[in-house]
Amino acid sequence: MTTTTTTTTTTTTQEPTPSHPTLIQVNRSPIPFASGAYSLVSAPAGSLLCKITGTTPSKKAYTSVQTGRDSHIELNSDLVYCNHSCDPTVNFDMDKMEVRVVDDRDLKAGDPLTFFYPSTEWEMDQPFECTCGSGEKCKGRIDGAKNLSTEVLGEYWLNPHIAEMVAEREAGRK
Ligand SMILES: [Zn+2]
Repeated sequence: MTTTTTTTTTTTTQEPTPSHPTLIQVNRSPIPFASGAYSLVSAPAGSLLCKITGTTPSKKAYTSVQTGRDSHIELNSDLVYCNHSCDPTVNFDMDKMEVRVVDDRDLKAGDPLTFFYPSTEWEMDQPFECTCGSGEKCKGRIDGAKNLSTEVLGEYWLNPHIAEMVAEREAGRK
């Protein structure tokens, strides 16, 4: 009697090396924009999840993240799989280059890693109809902070460059 032990699985697609193997599980989907990042760890509200490293300056693109009034970067890591949510689990602080758990609830292992895209993006390269599933918290069409009211933006932690542009917009209305 012989037993066959398969120790390696042959896949037709080569998955890239995870950038955050202890922190982030990436679920890849062949459906465009359906891939996502999930947390492998639990962490308290407001805590530092990881520093954002290995970025490169970039033009505005659907994968880029805005870091200042006129600056954008590519993340070049699995952090790029963090999707938008109107009820996000983390904040991307592009000033301190930190990913932190949101201030009002703890992160649990298995949670999707999501952030509120208008907290970094003033005007997005590719606007979309949100399907985050957060019920009445969902803002519908997401195209950046520019087209969201100051009241709505007030529900979220915002990067300094976005807060600054919102303040200017308000000042311009007076
Ligand atoms: Zn939403």
